[in-house]
Amino acid sequence: MNFAVKRAVINCARNSKAPKKFWRAGSGVRWISTERQWSTPLAKTIANAIEHQALKKKIFAHHFLSQATGPISIAAFMRQCLTSPDGGYYTSQTAGRDQFGQKGDFITSPEISQVFGELLGIWFVAEWMAQGRRSSGIELIEVGPGRGTLMDDMLRVGTVCNFKTLASSLEAVYLVEASPALRETQKQLLCGDNLIDQIDIGFKSKSKYFDLPVIWTEHIGLVPPGQDKSPFIFAHEFFDALPINAFQSVAPTQTQDSPSIITTPTGPIKLNTNNNKNTILPAATPQWRELLVFPAPPLTTPSSTEFQLSLAKASNPNSLLLPELSPRYRALKSHPGSTIEICPEGLSHAEQFAQCIGGSTKPGCFTKPKPSGAALILDYGPLTTIPVNSLRGIRHHKRVSPLSAPGQVDLSADVDFTALAEAALNASPGVEVHGPVEQGFFLGSLGIEERARQLLEGVTDEEKKVRLESGWKRLVERGGGGMGRIYKAMAILPEGGGRRRPVGFGGGVV
Ligand code: SAH
Repeated sequence: MNFAVKRAVINCARNSKAPKKFWRAGSGVRWISTERQWSTPLAKTIANAIEHQALKKKIFAHHFLSQATGPISIAAFMRQCLTSPDGGYYTSQTAGRDQFGQKGDFITSPEISQVFGELLGIWFVAEWMAQGRRSSGIELIEVGPGRGTLMDDMLRVGTVCNFKTLASSLEAVYLVEASPALRETQKQLLCGDNLIDQIDIGFKSKSKYFDLPVIWTEHIGLVPPGQDKSPFIFAHEFFDALPINAFQSVAPTQTQDSPSIITTPTGPIKLNTNNNKNTILPAATPQWRELLVFPAPPLTTPSSTEFQLSLAKASNPNSLLLPELSPRYRALKSHPGSTIEICPEGLSHAEQFAQCIGGSTKPGCFTKPKPSGAALILDYGPLTTIPVNSLRGIRHHKRVSPLSAPGQVDLSADVDFTALAEAALNASPGVEVHGPVEQGFFLGSLGIEERARQLLEGVTDEEKKVRLESGWKRLVERGGGGMGRIYKAMAILPEGGGRRRPVGFGGGVV
């Protein structure tokens, strides 16, 4: 980098009125005009944060380091876009005007058909029975409950309510929710006009169906663990909303002169090369490089977005640590061009689910002499492979660039079920994992067709009939991108040597 540019940056840091600028990894400087129009207030906040970080690092770099990185990880970008208190997709909605349904951005299985929630209620009852019908300490926990429809269908529609012993052994419903507006929607649906109080871990009200506390927290870690508790945890379309980091293995030669094109969630990009050969020493073996988000120059073609992706030009702490977590990632490192996505928050949630059910032998962790409870994860993602380029943006039921209109676009990524299973098994010796299996198989085994037929018998209204019929079929359809095929179910259960298969995973009702 030439000296004039370095000095301009340092001046810019000293004088807040100076024009702002931004370092684009590997290709010099891009100006960010303070006058620039951003698509959303959050876009500006993110760009400013990146710029600030770039400046800080660049000044530091001037003295101590040979290169600097201003861009942020995809995970940091996703976290801001989805749950920033200032304009995040989930955290800035107002109650009653949410993301779900025809008028929103997407529709989920519980919103498509009540049969979905009913069957998950049946799964809960069947698992409770199989574990010996405990008469106390049962907790029903849902992470990312959306409008609360799934929990409402589980509690209301003749499953949990009909099993009096189970209903009386239920101690509480916990809802783990980041969005204040959705919390309000859930409260109205599940508790009606009952009062809601603030408590140390969040909020508390009472179910409108029976005398059952409903408690909201912002993180599963806030649900108090207990050796005598049986937590039954449900996660539907929650893991896909957690931030991912993406990495690509880069051949040693690519760190120097040979630019190459790589594929990313937003299309092909040219791999950054190091123009100044004195600054970065070429790696002797392939290295993981993180895919980063940075503000694009102000713009050019109608289709270009305000943010772009670029491969970091050197290793960073994420690329040194995260791909070392599993032999599945390590096996790919020596194949340049391999891309992997890792969801650290997802892994941490799977670990916490496992430890709530099975305890942990790790020093300082909660132990559980008799594992009990279960976790059921339903989401989309491949059965066994590591997700690749799966970051997507959805707005008004259409695919859009995940880098467009931050805070107004739903961002999600495929769930790596095998990684979740590994994390759960490593976290607790007291659990085993079943699945993943395709949603079509799971719901089929739970009797979706029979239940839908039963419901249809009681319906006279033609329009309702059609909705019910098309709804349940949509959930199990396996053709093309059908939900029955792309969605998967996976269960974490108390360890039992794999002797008993749960319902929906090849087993029957015990
Ligand atoms: N399970 C629901 C909603 C899925 S949308 C359904 O199937 O209809 C994702 C849900 O997860 C929303 O309720 C959203 O507010 C919540 N969520 C997203 N990120 C979260 C986080 N980091 N912590 C807690 N909740 C989160």
